[in-house]
Amino acid sequence: MKPEDTKIQSLGPAKIQNPIITRQGDSPGFRHFIDNNEFVRVNPFVMDTADSCEPREVTFELAGPRSKIYFDPTKLKAAIVTCGGMCPGINSLVRSIVLQLHHIYGVTNVVGIKFGLQGFIPKFGHDIVELTPTLVEGIHGRGGSYLGMSRGSQSMEEIVDSLERLNLGLLFMIGGDGTLRASRAIVEEITKRGLKTGVVSIPKTIDNDICFVSKTFGFQTAVEEAAQAILGAHNEATGAPNGVGLVKLMGRMSGFVAAHATLALTEVNFCLIPEVEFDLEGERGLLKHLEDRIRDRGHAVVVVAEGAGQNIFTEEDLGRDASGNLRLGDIGTYLKKRINQHFEGKNIELNLKYIDPSYLIRSVPCNSNDRIYTGFLGHAAVHAALTGKTGMMVSQWDNHFVHVPVELAIKNRKKVDPEGSLWRSVREATGQPHMVNE
Ligand code: ATP
Ligand code: MG
Repeated sequence: MKPEDTKIQSLGPAKIQNPIITRQGDSPGFRHFIDNNEFVRVNPFVMDTADSCEPREVTFELAGPRSKIYFDPTKLKAAIVTCGGMCPGINSLVRSIVLQLHHIYGVTNVVGIKFGLQGFIPKFGHDIVELTPTLVEGIHGRGGSYLGMSRGSQSMEEIVDSLERLNLGLLFMIGGDGTLRASRAIVEEITKRGLKTGVVSIPKTIDNDICFVSKTFGFQTAVEEAAQAILGAHNEATGAPNGVGLVKLMGRMSGFVAAHATLALTEVNFCLIPEVEFDLEGERGLLKHLEDRIRDRGHAVVVVAEGAGQNIFTEEDLGRDASGNLRLGDIGTYLKKRINQHFEGKNIELNLKYIDPSYLIRSVPCNSNDRIYTGFLGHAAVHAALTGKTGMMVSQWDNHFVHVPVELAIKNRKKVDPEGSLWRSVREATGQPHMVNE
């Protein structure tokens, strides 16, 4: 990585006095503004894919209000769109952006795009929602997504036509890796047309798998809920002879939810994640170890991330979803079948209970910590956007709120390091062995 890789694109020079001081007054000693030359040093060791972060002297821009802004708030129209899959905290984030725009900058013209990128495309006929402080009043306490979301590829030309038609100066995009890719394509089309519309993204992924984001919003809530499911599985397992609780959790490519939930409730005996291969059969395979555990202790809890053990399935079996993501083989129900078959073959009567809480977890309201966090992210996104920054996302990285170029965030995927401290803790907490036959 080179220093210029962390440079943030700008729509032009910021010349207008930031209205914060006029609105809030200038108390002595209180520092309202961040200087444009305040940076945070990137610490590659905090990141799991450390090899992509060399050299080490690279820095990120510090987030926060600047003394001069690019847009005239009284003439600005902004939009918010939420894309991809659901995640706790989306509504809280939308509310935070609306309130910050409205109350701090005086941007009163804010609209919501319904059902993700579909909302820009006329043929779908989705309404545009006017987002006022009154309208978003209670949405942070609700789960789900107030604006609605969608997957599926849309024409970038049509999206930017829509931005022009709506006369938008700013677009806030909330979404995962796919949304960040879409935001890059939208910025390219905007630039090609010579428009002055800023695009600022806020990373949303329940899997916590986006690079240069310490933890995504909603992740803490997801871990909390996942731990409840594990508790249920443990109770089921201990409440019947030869009980096995099998829980499938989110994590298509990265096993952070499974790993953290395992540590949150150390009742798990086997935690299976996409980053760590395992065998089912053989002396060192999962089935043999599970059998030993059942013979020894009479109950067991297995947690499996949805993307674990995918080597079992072939690509033709799987196919792709509307956004072009490879579909996953259903490892949860597959394991349930194979575990039952294995114990039947050994004439051991097993009581296996399978729990898949994924849709329940995605749609719950976020907890207070995540609400606080979405507040910070919303504020940082609005500050950056008003200053004329574009093609970037806001992020908490290494304990600072920073600006990260979208280009950089989508280069890699954040994964659990099988040789790192998180996985070591999981191994220690579960006692699970290395489950690969030589
Ligand atoms: P999640 O974390 O839930 O997977 P996501 O943002 O990755 O969130 P996707 O459905 O993959 O969810 O993508 C969101 C939207 O971005 C979709 O409408 C998709 O078509 C669009 N998109 C994805 N990749 C690109 C790309 N390379 N160019 C343009 N649009 C894209
Ligand atoms: Mg995605």
